[in-house]
Amino acid sequence: MKDNIFIIATHNPKKLAELSRILAPLGIRAVTDRELGITLPEVEETGETFLENARLKARSACQFSGYPAIADDSGLMVDALDGAPGVRSARYSGEGATDEKNNQKLLQALQQVPEGQRGAQFVCAICCVFPNGDELTAEGICRGRIGFEPKGSGGFGYDPLFLYNGVSFDQLSPEQKDAVSHRGKALKALQQALITYYQESEGTKHADQ
Ligand code: IMP
Repeated sequence: MKDNIFIIATHNPKKLAELSRILAPLGIRAVTDRELGITLPEVEETGETFLENARLKARSACQFSGYPAIADDSGLMVDALDGAPGVRSARYSGEGATDEKNNQKLLQALQQVPEGQRGAQFVCAICCVFPNGDELTAEGICRGRIGFEPKGSGGFGYDPLFLYNGVSFDQLSPEQKDAVSHRGKALKALQQALITYYQESEGTKHADQ
């Protein structure tokens, strides 16, 4: 039986740790391709939504490995920019994009935008695909606003510019961020979806007997 191992389509150790924490209580072990001695093919993120990209990565990982697979995609959507940078969050400032360049470009784009119109949201979509084709999805959204200058110690992505209740994500502890973040919410929703999925498959098994 392969079904207590899930392959996680990420090379980000923080994401793997987060997923391991939420999967462990369900008796599921989260592993990377490296731990399985395989190398997942690179997947081009051609989707127009976070969920489409998460699905592309999860389907590819499941098909390639034969294990249930989980992938996520996330980013920032700014109201005044019609949802940009969106699925292009990581590469917003173009070729050779870095977090710092992306943040600078965002500040520039919002230079003329007043306080009251700087609303934004982080979005995280997660997709879980099983070898039999079953699919579970989960999404988390965190609303906030974009500040006028970076605040914090220059942490991950757009964290220094994203203000949640007036405090930047970069100024929150990891636990405080997990409790309110898009990723934290999506992970909780995925955990619930998996619990329901296993309860329903147990029910079907008993009904078949
Ligand atoms: P990915 O889902 O890891 O590919 O993230 C895409 C991009 O969205 C990252 O490179 C960041 O720019 C941005 N992003 C996603 N989640 C966060 C977050 O929690 N804080 C700051 N930036 C984020």
